[in-house]
Amino acid sequence: MIMVDMSLTPEQQRIQQLAREFTAQHILPVDREWDEKGEFHEFILEEVKKAGLNCMAVPQEYGGPGYDAVTQSLVAEEWGYGCAAFATTLGGNGLSSYPLAIAGTDEQKRLYYGRLVNGGMGGFALTEPGAGSDAGACATIAKLDGDEWIINGTKCFATTCGYADIMVIFASTDPSKGVKGLSAFIVEKEREGVVVGAVEHKMGIRSSNTVELLLKNVRVPKSHLLGKEGEGMKLAMKTLDMARPIVASLAVGVGRRALDEAVKYAKEYLDINGKPIGQHQAVAFKLADMATRVEAARQLVRNALRLKDAGVPYTKEAAMAKTFATDAAMRVTADAVELMGQYGYSRDSVVEKLMRDAKVTQIYEGTNQVQRIVISGILLNS
Ligand SMILES: Cc1cc2nc3c(=O)[nH]c(=O)nc-3n(C[C@H](O)[C@H](O)[C@H](O)COP(=O)(O)OP(=O)(O)OC[C@H]3O[C@@H](n4cnc5c(N)ncnc54)[C@H](O)[C@@H]3O)c2cc1C
Repeated sequence: MIMVDMSLTPEQQRIQQLAREFTAQHILPVDREWDEKGEFHEFILEEVKKAGLNCMAVPQEYGGPGYDAVTQSLVAEEWGYGCAAFATTLGGNGLSSYPLAIAGTDEQKRLYYGRLVNGGMGGFALTEPGAGSDAGACATIAKLDGDEWIINGTKCFATTCGYADIMVIFASTDPSKGVKGLSAFIVEKEREGVVVGAVEHKMGIRSSNTVELLLKNVRVPKSHLLGKEGEGMKLAMKTLDMARPIVASLAVGVGRRALDEAVKYAKEYLDINGKPIGQHQAVAFKLADMATRVEAARQLVRNALRLKDAGVPYTKEAAMAKTFATDAAMRVTADAVELMGQYGYSRDSVVEKLMRDAKVTQIYEGTNQVQRIVISGILLNS
């Protein structure tokens, strides 16, 4: 369902339209094939670059388009509508560029934004087999040796890291300090000791690349420390504040697609008496609830990102948007499967893919339980 949002600027509407057309031309014809094969969609990224929709957060002075956060979310919604795996790949790029925006020196930005805007992929590796929600349990260690850091450890579920040119990797520089000992490093793929391990076979977002990353005595110059030593956790949290509304936008796109599919089906599919099932109030009300959830999710995203663009605190609103939009995507996609009956459950329909894809949005970038910890923590401590 295509809507014109009058609260958007003409430039925001133009970029939204551009992303919508890109999705119709390059993604919708192939998203199910990507899913079926589970192959990474690397080739399409060149097209994204040509369309000027790559590295949207990179400022103009470093060669990017420097879009505001609302504009980035409009594009993310269109990517999510087309294919959540593709949206996740591009979201992973964003995730690697946000820490640079927050803590990078001019030299770091020049070098690493440069690689991203020239078509390189970025990754963000915080999670480990024993450290997911509890990032302070990080067992990857970085030790200073003269002018170099030596990094050892294993990361897992690292999006796009099988293809990434640069990665932001979190390691403990002082394990005795827990989360306060965490630091962030920029690591290029060509560094000796960076080994891509097992590829995850996933329920959904199957054509996104999710890998284990082994770091074996990886040496990087001192200048690769991002921000201050011991401030990695703060940096990760600020990065996730920026990323969560973008995941939420992706989820809005997934929900919107499921809604469109369900509406179409409800108009066309006839019951035993030859009446379109949408004429039954039970079906029509389900559609109404689905549409309401999608729109409410979109408005929570916009609210969080307008706060961000205005430069005021938005951690709580970002977590609310992520929680609500991803729960809504899960609910709306499951409703679409239900409404479409056996066809909905079949691989002949797209809604079963949407339902599988929606699930991960409740998990990554902080589970929705963790988001509720963030929201309630702010409520109770302010
Ligand atoms: C497809 C995919 C891609 C990913 N990409 C990346 C990436 O690019 N980079 C990266 O660093 N990570 C990535 N992740 C990892 C993701 O961020 C973690 O899966 C997530 O943070 C949860 O960690 P966990 O899976 O270890 O779950 P756990 O932390 O083990 O949690 C298990 C369950 O316990 C709940 N739980 C945990 N602690 C609490 C608590 N205190 N209170 C209430 N409930 C709690 C959780 O909500 C969850 O339901 C990815 C994950 C997936 C699935």
